[in-house]
Amino acid sequence: MIERVIHCTKRPVVILGVTGTVGQRFVEYLADHPWFEIAAVMASERSVGRPVDEARRWLLPDGPPASVGRMTILPMDPAVIDVDDDGVRPIAFSALPADVARDVEPAFAEAGYAVFSNASTFRYDEDVPLLIPEVNADHAALLALQRQRRGWGGFIVTNPNCTATGIAMALKPLDDAFGVRRVFATTMQAISGAGYPGTSSLDILDNVIPLIPGEEEKIDRELRLLLGEMQNGRVVEADVVVSAQANRVPVVDGHTICLSLGLERPASAEEAVAVLASFRGEDFVRGLPSAPKRPIVVRTEDDRPQPRIDRSAGCGMAVSVGRVRRCPLLDLRMVVVVHNTVRGAAWGSVLNAETLVESGYVT
Ligand code: NAP
Repeated sequence: MIERVIHCTKRPVVILGVTGTVGQRFVEYLADHPWFEIAAVMASERSVGRPVDEARRWLLPDGPPASVGRMTILPMDPAVIDVDDDGVRPIAFSALPADVARDVEPAFAEAGYAVFSNASTFRYDEDVPLLIPEVNADHAALLALQRQRRGWGGFIVTNPNCTATGIAMALKPLDDAFGVRRVFATTMQAISGAGYPGTSSLDILDNVIPLIPGEEEKIDRELRLLLGEMQNGRVVEADVVVSAQANRVPVVDGHTICLSLGLERPASAEEAVAVLASFRGEDFVRGLPSAPKRPIVVRTEDDRPQPRIDRSAGCGMAVSVGRVRRCPLLDLRMVVVVHNTVRGAAWGSVLNAETLVESGYVT
């Protein structure tokens, strides 16, 4: 029988898939979070029973914090926390592969956890919010439909694909101001986006791989959902045509995306820069522990943004946008950089959790 977590001074969280590229980012951040406390860590049978610092190669420079490094990795069992114990709903942060998430995440939601998932498994379900707090915090209202349909004690909320996250954050203020109707996106995506060990060095060094299976479809679908509107308790997808071409490039962290945009109302590059630079997102989101003061950092230098220099803007939670200029085919062109494992994955998920705690969905 599994040993239960006895006591946490903050809201208890479990990390599902703690040893992976995204799981390690969760550890890095949650080890010292003001609201949340890591109560248990879980991974596959390959890792169960081992301490975190011995289970898998640690990819981040400082290694796991000592308090988490000594924790023993447990099997995926929601019973590790007694959900009814003191009336505080526990959180499960999921960094699981999509096929594993299919059974594990609903089991945690059914047991009463608020599940915040990085996997694509449930992103397109009509009753599952796909959230970026600065873009579409109001889509959390889908949880009413989820409760009604699934009857779980808890719920599942997802964050988008890492590339879609960067594009959607750049598009949101432009869409509000000018109406974005066409998006042509060429991506240059970092190798950490493929997990560990990911793409082999012989394939990626000195090379560009013009295929990331499923990525272009995800970017298309997720942009239409993220920019969509809540109407009568459902999300109505945005009327935007997306053409994406996804490439894997030999960069460790940070996805770069070249965008051409077709707008409903004409805008000069200067007007677009002004709108991007003044974007702040919802007031209540800006005050949350993981929220950057400025969700978008506008770079005005000729040769920025670049992934190595700009991926850590706003501690990795801000998206950098630069080279904003006229496009002879559509209306505007620009370049976006997003940190794929921070804003595009683990920390984006933590910001979703903070947003739902703040707005009363996580009781
Ligand atoms: P990863 O490095 O391959 O890590 C996968 C994690 O899941 C590991 O902890 C692994 O544990 C665990 N796991 C694998 N099979 C399992 C099983 N059968 N049962 C239980 N646990 C299992 O992958 P990642 O890059 O961190 O990605 C995790 C998820 O986040 C994926 O759904 C991915 O699509 C999504 N995502 C990734 C990024 C990114 O930039 N990397 C960005 C956005 C979203 P073991 O070590 O024990 O095998």
